[in-house]
Amino acid sequence: MESVLERAPGAGASAAGGPPPRIELRDVSLRYFTHEGETQALDRISLTVAAGEFVSLIGQSGCGKSTLLSIIAGILPPSSGTVRVDGKPVTGPSPRVGYMLQQDYLFEWRTILDNAVLGAQIQRQDMKRARERAAHLLHKCGMGDFLHHYPRQLSGGMRQRVALARTLVTDPDVVLLDEPFSALDSQTRLAIADEVVAVLREEGKSVVLVTHDIGEAIAMTDRVVVLSRRPGRIKSEHLMRFPSYGPGRPSPFEARSLPEFNSYFATLWDEIDVHVEG
Ligand code: ADP
Ligand code: MG
Repeated sequence: MESVLERAPGAGASAAGGPPPRIELRDVSLRYFTHEGETQALDRISLTVAAGEFVSLIGQSGCGKSTLLSIIAGILPPSSGTVRVDGKPVTGPSPRVGYMLQQDYLFEWRTILDNAVLGAQIQRQDMKRARERAAHLLHKCGMGDFLHHYPRQLSGGMRQRVALARTLVTDPDVVLLDEPFSALDSQTRLAIADEVVAVLREEGKSVVLVTHDIGEAIAMTDRVVVLSRRPGRIKSEHLMRFPSYGPGRPSPFEARSLPEFNSYFATLWDEIDVHVEG
């Protein structure tokens, strides 16, 4: 039987003369220094993400996934190697790159709308426009009836929708998601994954999703990158294609019922080399 798994072409430069990739990491290594000593978290990671592409990073806990996102976000400078967004070296946090974390960090004393405009406020953007855009995004995320509610009045899934709207208010080209659904129950996760992907696709974002959930990676993204145990290296990359769906792209929920899903799951399960340590 022919494998449905395709190896993605390795990271590399864009075609000569074409636009640079949205994100480009070249030989990125990172060492953490603490009193206990030195930890090599990442070892020569080279990865490109095209405009509009959704890529997921999977690998065991501690393999450097969050570290890699912080480097792309410009929060953590790499020990060596280069990071570029749209061909420009990343030297610090940028409004072009939005970062959404596992914890929603909503301010309890601010309404949903006021939480959603926070990033725009910090960036001193025109607040009238920011509020309009925030309201529009909250509507798209299914939160239109809750603009003047407070975070404590919302469920976990609703709070994550608000966090997504807040990330998108400043209209970043790149959205980084670090295990955004891990605090949610499994049914909410399935529902919110569909909505989040729909909004991000509509907005034309490039996405890097960190997850330890293989199914989420397969269902939500175009390419899955497997990192090895520490120090994180790229072990393999896999394109997620669902030819049995026909033309177009299945939603994450639809993807889960397709035969390709099970096949990718089996392959990635082996790749990720899960075993419980004693
Ligand atoms: P993941 O997100 O894949 O679980 P992380 O990127 O959080 O992994 O961490 C990678 C490795 O680097 C881990 O071994 C972790 O303990 C270590 N590490 C992460 N942050 C720091 C830090 N601020 N100082 C020292 N070591 C760290
Ligand atoms: Mg992490």
